[in-house]
Amino acid sequence: MTHQPPLNALAAADPQIAGLVEAEAQRQHDKIRLIASENYVSQAVLEAAGTVLTNKYSEGYAGKRYYEGQQLIDQVETLAIERAKALFGADHANVQPYSGSPANLAAYLAFAEPGDKVLGMGLPDGGHLTHGWGVSATGKWFEPVRYGVRKDTGRLDLDQVRDLAREHRPKLIFCGGTAIPRTIDFAAFGEIAREVGAVLVADIAHIAGLVAGGAHPTPVGHAQVVTTTTHKTLRGPRGAMILTDAEHAKAIDRAIFPGLQGGPHDHTTAAIAVALAEARRPEFRDYAHAIVANAKALAEALIERGYDLVSGGTDNHLLLIDLTNKGVAGKPAAQALDRAGIELNYNAVPFDPRKPFDPSGIRVGTPAITTRGLTPEHQPKIAEWIDRSVVAAGDDAAQDVIAAEIRELLSAFPMPGYTA
Ligand SMILES: *Cc1c(COP(=O)(O)O)cnc(C)c1O
Repeated sequence: MTHQPPLNALAAADPQIAGLVEAEAQRQHDKIRLIASENYVSQAVLEAAGTVLTNKYSEGYAGKRYYEGQQLIDQVETLAIERAKALFGADHANVQPYSGSPANLAAYLAFAEPGDKVLGMGLPDGGHLTHGWGVSATGKWFEPVRYGVRKDTGRLDLDQVRDLAREHRPKLIFCGGTAIPRTIDFAAFGEIAREVGAVLVADIAHIAGLVAGGAHPTPVGHAQVVTTTTHKTLRGPRGAMILTDAEHAKAIDRAIFPGLQGGPHDHTTAAIAVALAEARRPEFRDYAHAIVANAKALAEALIERGYDLVSGGTDNHLLLIDLTNKGVAGKPAAQALDRAGIELNYNAVPFDPRKPFDPSGIRVGTPAITTRGLTPEHQPKIAEWIDRSVVAAGDDAAQDVIAAEIRELLSAFPMPGYTA
């Protein structure tokens, strides 16, 4: 078992770190990885991310840099930008944000002043910290107004969004989130934003790969600004991008640099360009649809076993499960599952009576297992393992039996970045 590319120099220079990286590769190989925001990047993306491009400083943008020696870096960044624009059909792309959170900060810096009202989804309803949640700078420095899901349906309440937008006239409206199992109606958000004169920011961090692959409607054409991470369903390196229409391009570029950041991470930019080229291939469309097919099959199998899914199911890559009727909280369940070789995260559910650090639910996503090659036929077995593990929470021996069964299944499904 070896990491790919091999870590020869690293093992010689720093056996401690090399050993930990090797062990992490093994761990990722041996587990059913159901964290909805994670994936396995390709060997090509891994190689691009580990290049000498990390040695370069290139503050500014192609053709307007503050350091010399940009002959090749300019070409790398321009390729990433052109590929992003082509893949999503956007007028403009900025590929420099260090990650999803700074990408969202750029929207605030570009289009709002401290104290301005911003409308976003509440964190327990599925929104992200950077959509104005209280502990985030975005909730401290701006005045957040929050929408959520309906208690009876578990689905986003567009009437509430419209009413709040009309009442508060926010500068920014955020749509998208981290735990939304249903299709987002970007056209409806676009209409609301236009009516109240707000800039609509569609944060597609979770679903960018589904959008790119045609498995979720696109926000382009409805939202003036689209932010996304590149490392979730899009299956690129850790990083982010912002897509805009022509009118909002300059303000976003200025907000990223010099507004928020210094030099871009050029090795990451190269890896983003590689991931975007991969996402433009026909196989990626199949991948995006397979993610959704797996999620729907897993949802069905869990519902059959009596699991309570927020909104009753899924349209995308993720399931939010309320474990209240199973008599176990999210955190002990997630810990039992981890021991059983099933990696996921505990998560608040809408109207959760429990505390955020000890909530009622778990979140499950299929992007990584789909990359691994698992199909809808495997989902009843995964649901069985989840059920056995949750029922046996606290019984380590029972979890270890499941973990061995899972290692056996996964040994037939290679993982990029690792040879068995
Ligand atoms: C993951 C995520 C982010 C933040 O990305 P980081 O790279 O972790 O900063 C922002 N918005 C949404 C909706 C996300 O899911």
